[in-house]
Amino acid sequence: MIKKGFFLLPFVLIWGSISAQNQTLPCATNEYIKHLDNQQLGTQKNIEETFFDAKRFSNIKFKNKKDTIYTIQVVFHVVYSNSLENLDEDYITSQMKELNECFRRQNPDTIDTREIFLPVAADAGIEFELAKLDPDGNPTNGIIRKNTPIPTFGQFPINLTNADRVKESLYGSEIWDPDRYLNIWVCDLSVSGFDALLGYAYPPTNADNWGSNSFTTRNKQGVVVHYKVVGKNNPLSLSTGSKTLVHEVGHYLGLRHIWGDGSRNQGCNVDDYMDDTPNSRAASNGCSLGQNTCINNPGDLPDMIENYMDYSDGDCQNMFTEQQVVQMRSNLILFRSGIATVRYPAPPPEPAQFTSLYPNPVVESLTLTLADLDEEADYQIEITNMLGQIVFVSKLESVSSQTILGLNALRGMNVCKVFKKGEEILTEKILFQL
Ligand SMILES: [Zn+2]
Repeated sequence: MIKKGFFLLPFVLIWGSISAQNQTLPCATNEYIKHLDNQQLGTQKNIEETFFDAKRFSNIKFKNKKDTIYTIQVVFHVVYSNSLENLDEDYITSQMKELNECFRRQNPDTIDTREIFLPVAADAGIEFELAKLDPDGNPTNGIIRKNTPIPTFGQFPINLTNADRVKESLYGSEIWDPDRYLNIWVCDLSVSGFDALLGYAYPPTNADNWGSNSFTTRNKQGVVVHYKVVGKNNPLSLSTGSKTLVHEVGHYLGLRHIWGDGSRNQGCNVDDYMDDTPNSRAASNGCSLGQNTCINNPGDLPDMIENYMDYSDGDCQNMFTEQQVVQMRSNLILFRSGIATVRYPAPPPEPAQFTSLYPNPVVESLTLTLADLDEEADYQIEITNMLGQIVFVSKLESVSSQTILGLNALRGMNVCKVFKKGEEILTEKILFQL
């Protein structure tokens, strides 16, 4: 009971002040973490542990290793009660372009990044693609449309139980397998015509300690956004605009707000644990380029209002930092590997001379090269432990070199078999020390 009071109090206070000022809240991810913890005690602690697991992993193993591009499979659930909310496909296409540009640092407004921050501004090497196959393997355009009997999913004071109904089949659209897709729900989050909330996200949880199936809320993973901020071409856009989804996917891939989510009293002592984002006291708004809320020493950097993980106007946001990028890539590999495919940027790899799996032992990732590649053939990998139990099966890409994702749970000696058209073409005993 004491805990419950402790969790509820801060956001009632936040909402009291926000409703009084009639301000739009760009993101309720922090409130959502508390909501998830109320649903299942320990979730908040687990999300925090997961954050630091990814941070440790990135510190030890990553260091700007960007030889691979990850492509995340996306499904949009457009849940609407009127035609305005039933967004035209143009808006979704435009939003996908925005996501891709921002995560690859190819958006035109990168030229607005101030010179002092250019050394740490980074390309995440992460791309997004509307799913072409649904969970049953049927063709899809990656957009689901559902009519809802609920006029809005927003409520005052904020009520994320109500908002999360967008993920239930009775009121909204049911999740696609969260281990294979990034689920994005688009719906009305306004209250009496006032745009109360623009979005929230489900951060990564640690499968290692809990087992991913033990989360009672795992069927809520993904991102929810207000229909007015989807699409750069959306005429109703406001505040963080089409960068809202960039921000929420940042949370979904394990980033925190750059001011660290402390209260104003804690201010500069609360960090986002990224060394290359200067400390700031609180969320910013608008586009106050001169703002420097935490002056640690003379020559200290101003607040990084260009960062996607702030609340500044969408037009003002144009960068992730190197450390944020590494943190997202670590989270993707450790906790969300099933949603992404991997490709190597140009130049394409040479044709492989031998079919092989390497390195052995595996300490970071396992790479397969296929000789005599037949692009039409089905390739598959099957891994069994020393008891003969199958511990991993996956279809492979018909490419000459690929990284096998999703092996983080494997330990010790295992037997890896590669099949081409159902015929075994390689058997290797491999030691996993991930
Ligand atoms: Zn946020």
